[in-house]
Amino acid sequence: MGATEIEREATLAAIERVSERLADEKEHLTDLDSAIGDADHGSNMNRGFRAAREKTEEMDDANPAELVKTIGVTLVSEVGGAAGPLYGGSFMTASAELEDGLTAESTVAFAEAFLEKVKDRGSAEVGAKTMVDALTPAVHTYKKSVEQDDLPPVESLTKAVDACERGVKFTTPIRATKGRASYLGWRSVGHQDPGATSTLFILEAIREIAVEYLGDGDLDADATSPTVPDGEDVDEAMSTDEEPAVDEEA
Ligand code: ADP
Ligand code: MG
Repeated sequence: MGATEIEREATLAAIERVSERLADEKEHLTDLDSAIGDADHGSNMNRGFRAAREKTEEMDDANPAELVKTIGVTLVSEVGGAAGPLYGGSFMTASAELEDGLTAESTVAFAEAFLEKVKDRGSAEVGAKTMVDALTPAVHTYKKSVEQDDLPPVESLTKAVDACERGVKFTTPIRATKGRASYLGWRSVGHQDPGATSTLFILEAIREIAVEYLGDGDLDADATSPTVPDGEDVDEAMSTDEEPAVDEEA
């Protein structure tokens, strides 16, 4: 199987996992939205991703960018409310960053374009108690982990999920100033934002698939570590009386 086919398969697997997760969390998301909204976020997200999964499964030979664009088109057309156009528009626009395939660099570009589009469309900054509060730390952490800390994609994604989770928690004690929850004013305080929560579920599902396809970061590090010899090195070390070489730079 070529690299393109694996990426295509991984993208379809991620869409499937996201759709399953959102189906599992339908009640949970609806409960959150009933406290500060109109109790439809769970069914919106479940319906949208189920439709996206059905459509993308029929797209023979589509590459990751085309599949992700279809998620966006489907969410925009199937899901009303705030979240449909916000998530949908962002998947559509950001999918262009994946044209050359799935790499650490292209996924960083995707994440940044995604966040930018959400902010553009919804004009919410961090602190308005929206999905932006979960997405922003996740995207910034992912970018920093890849570009500055040179971490492998899965490890970077794990850090992004942790940051996202902290972003979700941050939405609870603050007052909503955007979206339907803002109609409640101070009464929105003390409730976790549904859209920030669905962002976390989506990211967690993507991470699960990334681990399945790439292995987790620790395994990768062990495989390339100079302190863990592969079979040949072990044989060589056993066949000589010399002390095993020590890597000065290690
Ligand atoms: P609606 O509020 O129209 O019923 P949903 O319930 O599906 O739509 O989605 C609600 C979520 O959408 C909120 O929890 C919030 O995270 C997100 N949201 C609402 N308005 C905005 C906005 N202007 N910018 C970013 N996210 C927003
Ligand atoms: Mg709602």
